[in-house]
Amino acid sequence: MALSNIWVVAEPSNGSFTTTSLELLTQARTFGGTLSAITWGGDAGLASVAGEYGATTLYDVGDVGSALPGVPVASAIQALISSVGVPDAILIPTSYDGRDIAGRLSARLDRPVLTNITGLSDSGGLVTEHPIFGGSQTVKAHFTGEGPGIYVIRAKSFVAEASGGAPATVTAAPVGDVGTEGTASITATHVEERVGPKLEEAAVVVSGGRGLGEADKYALIEETAKLLNGAAGASRAIVDAGWVPYSHQVGQTGKTVKPTVYIACGISGATQHLVGMKGSKNIVAINKDPDAPIFQIADFGIVGDVHKVLPALIAALKARN
Ligand SMILES: Cc1cc2nc3c(=O)[nH]c(=O)nc-3n(C[C@H](O)[C@H](O)[C@H](O)COP(=O)(O)OP(=O)(O)OC[C@H]3O[C@@H](n4cnc5c(N)ncnc54)[C@H](O)[C@@H]3O)c2cc1C
Repeated sequence: MALSNIWVVAEPSNGSFTTTSLELLTQARTFGGTLSAITWGGDAGLASVAGEYGATTLYDVGDVGSALPGVPVASAIQALISSVGVPDAILIPTSYDGRDIAGRLSARLDRPVLTNITGLSDSGGLVTEHPIFGGSQTVKAHFTGEGPGIYVIRAKSFVAEASGGAPATVTAAPVGDVGTEGTASITATHVEERVGPKLEEAAVVVSGGRGLGEADKYALIEETAKLLNGAAGASRAIVDAGWVPYSHQVGQTGKTVKPTVYIACGISGATQHLVGMKGSKNIVAINKDPDAPIFQIADFGIVGDVHKVLPALIAALKARN
């Protein structure tokens, strides 16, 4: 089945779309055919962003008020399918709202969903890639039944790149009947305080693991990250131990990062951690065990004690700055 009509759910964020949405638009553009974006919020400026990334039509669900976006957006997509026809694929970012939209849409359309996708290719229809066994193996999948296929794709699976297209034509996507789903509403939102760049977008990520020994030593990671204008990450071991919040976790069940430089400090290199950072351009590992698996993927390794290496690195960076 040729891919002639792809829809991408593009989540609005600060006058643009989230980075993952831009990554999906970029990849969908490579398949040719008609590319449409579906968003919400009624921001007129998003037409040019959608166009720059290759979409010719931007379906806008409009202001969703205090509703969970998944409810009106899934309803609007179902209504759109009834009015303009069935797309070949609906690509959705892996995010809280993205997963909510996918689940609700799956129930509404009675169609299955492919999730945790890290690769997409066109082979007479979309073929997906999914990491399994902690990222040590990849399986490929494709839909065999009636469309539309619903695909939920992980962040950093593709590189977002604008193509310089004209602004997309904005078309209203009215919300259909939401039934009792519409009775849930958001009563409060909290934005996590953060210093420095976002973990997923930072050019330098400095991550700490159990080798730090105790929670207080994570300050060494934060200070090194700050001096490098980077973000501080973590292994799951220290997130589970309560040393740092989950938002810092890199790996299979955390965030995927692809910075220019990734510095792993006191991290063994379990496959579940590697799957979230192995796409980094340059990997530096600091570990006192010369046989730690992290050294197998490191471009530069320091066999040493993080409590000695990091203070020396911090002193050198301060002297340089
Ligand atoms: C389903 C599932 C999902 C998972 N998802 C994730 C995930 O998303 N992200 C993730 O990170 N993990 C994940 N894990 C956990 C993963 O398997 C590992 O347990 C975890 O990554 C180990 O964290 P660590 O490297 O910090 O700790 P450890 O494996 O205990 O390694 C600590 C390292 O520090 C070194 N060290 C000790 N002292 C020092 C010192 N003073 N100086 C220098 N080095 C020192 C040691 O040599 C060792 O290599 C998952 C596991 C499962 C089963």
